[in-house]
Amino acid sequence: MLKINVPKNVKLIINILEKNGYEAYAVGGCVRDAILLKEPNDWDITTSAMPEDVKNIFNKTIDTGIKHGTVTVLIERTGYEVTTYRIDGEYEDGRHPKSVEFTSNLIEDLKRRDFTINAMAYSDKKGIVDAFDGIGDLERKVIKCVGNPEDRFNEDALRILRAVRFSAVLDFDIEENTKKAIIKLAENLNKISKERIQVELEKLLMSNHPEKLKTAYETGITKVILDEVDKINSLGKLDETLNLIRKMPVNHYLRWSALLNHCDKSTVANILRGLKFDNKTINIVSRIVDATNNELPHDRAGVRKLIYLIGEDIFREYIEFMEIYISYIHKENLEIQKLITFVKNEYFDILDKKECISLKMLAINGRDLIELGAGRGAEVGEGLNMLLNKVLEDSSLNTKEKLIDIYKNR
Ligand code: ATP
Ligand code: MG
Repeated sequence: MLKINVPKNVKLIINILEKNGYEAYAVGGCVRDAILLKEPNDWDITTSAMPEDVKNIFNKTIDTGIKHGTVTVLIERTGYEVTTYRIDGEYEDGRHPKSVEFTSNLIEDLKRRDFTINAMAYSDKKGIVDAFDGIGDLERKVIKCVGNPEDRFNEDALRILRAVRFSAVLDFDIEENTKKAIIKLAENLNKISKERIQVELEKLLMSNHPEKLKTAYETGITKVILDEVDKINSLGKLDETLNLIRKMPVNHYLRWSALLNHCDKSTVANILRGLKFDNKTINIVSRIVDATNNELPHDRAGVRKLIYLIGEDIFREYIEFMEIYISYIHKENLEIQKLITFVKNEYFDILDKKECISLKMLAINGRDLIELGAGRGAEVGEGLNMLLNKVLEDSSLNTKEKLIDIYKNR
């Protein structure tokens, strides 16, 4: 019997449920990952016990999704989701179908799951329960729906995108009939909330094989959820863009910047806003993409000015992006490769020496200028900016004395 290394708290929960006369198993993604010898994100437990029973058996529980049969059991301050075997109605938000029916049959619960590799359960007592040959599909490296793919995608269109996401995370192919159904039903993704789509796109882009986004293009998925990809393809730049994403470290901002590097700033912001990303993401990614339009400076003062222009808060990411971008897009151009290395080294040295690169690092402030006779408001702002420009040009000017002098003689 194949054994999986289950964390002790998960074992404990399963044991306690079993001692109380119920069935219980680790289920879904954690079983898949454990078989693949990958560290699971989280361990989900499925049980024949009803939610009320689970609450009675364990001391500390939280009603996470009690309507859908999920109770979080707290052990040593870590939460484990324990969900009653169920048969699902239509899904509304990914984790939660609109209606559910509880069942006492594990196989019924496994049947509702999206892919064969996600439809396995495990307990030390019973071993792996694999009613749909998930292990075979792990060996064949394929993503295959449990049951009839068209039916499964009609129940929940998000599964269409999840298939591509898992193929990117695991480097698997999509089984033929599953793929045919994706092509046929990709349009249905327009019924799915942007929030759910964002989660899957993010996992796809942050995977080891983000270039599998190409499958999403080829099957007609991106036309529905992210048609910028189709535009990139019509520019003849899709493969280049996908390779660039793959060369980026697994960094949310850099990978989205790589994907959208052909867009102008406001298009980037619109696309990310459309996908319901947070303001920080929208701000940083659109600024990185915009920053790539700047010419690289040849001297230290130019680097200070560029840091100020782009913003010190994202300059490190900008440099990281540019290094990879240039080494890929300008492979042959040693000149520009030397230049980005120069900018990077100067940047670190400027930080090291604490050279002034922002208004708050200026040796003089608004109050000082008012004392020197500047009118409140615009005049102060203009004065400070004028002084900052001098200091960006020549760091040695950043003393209060010298700046007062410059201001007086302006
Ligand atoms: P990850 O490693 O990204 O967490 P996962 O397989 O655990 O992957 P989750 O989205 O956390 O994926 O879902 C947990 C399990 O719930 C899945 O393995 C699958 O069995 C089931 N599941 C999740 N979403 C769906 C869905 N839309 N349709 C059917 N089953 C689903
Ligand atoms: Mg999971």
